[in-house]
Amino acid sequence: MTDTQTHQPTQTQTQTMRHDGGGREVDVDVVVVGAGIAGLYLMKRLRDLGVGARAFETGDDVGGTWYWNRYPGARCDVESIDYQYSWDPELAEEWTWSERYATQPEILRYVNHVADKHDLRRDVTFETRIVDARWDDATSKWTIRTEPADGGPLETLTCRWYVMATGCLSAPKDPEIEGSDAFEGEVYVTGRWPHEGVDFTGKRVGVIGTGSSAIQSIPLIADEADEMVVFQRTPNFSLPARNGPPRPEKVERFEQADDYREEARWSSAGVPRDMPELGAMMVDEDTRRARYEQAWQEGTIFSLTGAYNDLFLNPESNATAAEFVRSKIRSKVDDPETAEILCPTTFPIGTKRLCLDTNYYETFNRGHVSLVDLRAEPIQRITATGVEVGAGDGASESRSFEFDAIVFATGFDAMTGAIVRVDIEGRDGLSLREKWAAGPQTYLGLMTEGFPNLFMVTGPQSPSVLSNMAVSIEQHVEWITDTIERLREDGHDVIEPTELAERAWVQHNDDFAGITLFTQANSWYMGANVAGKARAVLPYIGGVDRYRQTCVDVVEAD
Ligand code: FAD
Ligand code: NAP
Repeated sequence: MTDTQTHQPTQTQTQTMRHDGGGREVDVDVVVVGAGIAGLYLMKRLRDLGVGARAFETGDDVGGTWYWNRYPGARCDVESIDYQYSWDPELAEEWTWSERYATQPEILRYVNHVADKHDLRRDVTFETRIVDARWDDATSKWTIRTEPADGGPLETLTCRWYVMATGCLSAPKDPEIEGSDAFEGEVYVTGRWPHEGVDFTGKRVGVIGTGSSAIQSIPLIADEADEMVVFQRTPNFSLPARNGPPRPEKVERFEQADDYREEARWSSAGVPRDMPELGAMMVDEDTRRARYEQAWQEGTIFSLTGAYNDLFLNPESNATAAEFVRSKIRSKVDDPETAEILCPTTFPIGTKRLCLDTNYYETFNRGHVSLVDLRAEPIQRITATGVEVGAGDGASESRSFEFDAIVFATGFDAMTGAIVRVDIEGRDGLSLREKWAAGPQTYLGLMTEGFPNLFMVTGPQSPSVLSNMAVSIEQHVEWITDTIERLREDGHDVIEPTELAERAWVQHNDDFAGITLFTQANSWYMGANVAGKARAVLPYIGGVDRYRQTCVDVVEAD
């Protein structure tokens, strides 16, 4: 279902790496943006295929998500045995995870180990941002401009294939709060945490947001702070992580690593697990409660919403799981009023990303921690000394909080943010930003019509954030690099989806989403967390297995 045009065969790596007088490459076969787990695997595969490639990364080292998100408590929420590379089988022998859910430093050490082992840094230009990319029909190439972090002059290079491995959750969103620049104390953003760490000892700290990043960091910041105020707009459902050593039963299953991984690749979320056969309303209340209790004890993001097969489809079924978690929140939080404020009621459980925590709800039982319900008292502004809240209607009092430090745990312009922050111009001057103004339109989340030879790793309308991303990233990297190799072998210089294929894929996405409860939440999955962003279902909801089969079928159908 892709349109290919035949041009001269692409030359080999050594022939196409052209340099300017200063020895810099000015023309490469492939430009990759990003050196997270996707960008690194791309560079390894392209090198193995003998394709000339260069990656560019804003940060000064590898790791992507695990380079930027160094806030206290940052760790994965997919078990580390699942959340790792599978393409180098030796890694499973060389690397033993110390915990079921490894911390950010351990994951970053792992990514560094892989980069060292395969000498991947030499193909990456760090501290350099891709600013814009323009397609040239006459040469069938992209012209890319890069900006060094030191503010030096922009540099230009050309490439045949342009791959955005820019991450689904890499562009922190504007907090969208009046005066957010006004605070004169310490300001921290979870997704851009200082490398040297932060000592909150003896400080008065305000945390804005109660998503996964906040829920992981709040208990640890509270350990140090003298006083802590959490500003919550929408409460989230969080389940206990039950972290500890890797689970013995999982370690045992993983001994047959090849089989285990093949099962993961063909599972619905990129993690092998048993799929439920029953709907929640097909059993009696006691049975249901016992099943939810078992899921609660398991400590994974998949267990509870995977307990019955209709929890994302049937509001009545979903409500039983949501009420189960609310009952747990009430049992953990001493003050009934605080417990009620922490109970999510405005969206079906699972339609916003579930959180995993260690002592999150219990933190609100500590004397120096308090919660402000922004639905009752919205933030009016951030001032030089703190945060002002109140209805702002003159009818109720406003309140001011003074802080030494404010932590913005306000999330990301997810899935499309990092892509459209680059000014991308395709065929006939078409702007990607404009094309996607009403929501992303892609073919398989891999390509978009009007932008030939541009690939996205875990792009919108692919399973991406609804899956174990390690599995989804590898599938995309392999599909993209196999495609580039095939095009080169067959002497094609251009690949682009047809408008019809793209429309059908977008429609299929919308149809799938429409039969689920996901559209009922104002979530970042729906683009609803960023002011002015079009409301659209961003990830593909049909599952990793179904999606993978579609990608295989497309290739087989030539
Ligand atoms: P990223 O790791 O985001 O890397 C993209 C890189 O591109 C970044 O380093 C960025 O600096 C660079 N970049 C972007 N734009 C430009 C530009 N214009 N020029 C140059 N460089 C650019 N997923 C899971 O499956 N399981 C988990 O447990 C999990 N935990 C997470 C925890 C946190 C705190 C966050 C934020 C996300 C988590 N995710 C998790 C999702 C996670 O983002 C992916 O699993 C994965 O790390 C993404 O890798 P990536 O290489 O695709 O993108
Ligand atoms: P998030 O889930 O989008 O949470 C952002 C929080 O900030 C929300 O509570 C949001 O409230 C609040 N917020 C945003 N703007 C605000 C404003 N102007 N005023 C008041 N509150 C505001 O972001 P995140 O916590 O960084 O997590 C994003 C995703 O990254 C996660 O869903 C997950 O996929 C991934 N992640 C994973 C882990 C992990 O456990 N491995 C950890 C961190 C992140 P509203 O809900 O009302 O918008």
